[in-house]
Amino acid sequence: MAVQQNKVSKSRRNNRRAHDALVAGNPNECSNCGELKRPHHICASCGHYGDREVVAMVNEIDLDEDAA
Ligand SMILES: [Zn+2]
Repeated sequence: MAVQQNKVSKSRRNNRRAHDALVAGNPNECSNCGELKRPHHICASCGHYGDREVVAMVNEIDLDEDAA
């Protein structure tokens, strides 16, 4: 196991961690439905990418009708 040779002071440790903050994402509006989506990703709510539908979306699945 590696053992550090010198104690890292609180100041040095905290200065190192000054750049560790997470940054928020930068969502874009979907050009089809207007929902916020991740850039360069398929829209999760309508399945569009660019100007065409890439993933077909199912509007409603009623599981109770199959069981009856
Ligand atoms: Zn959309």
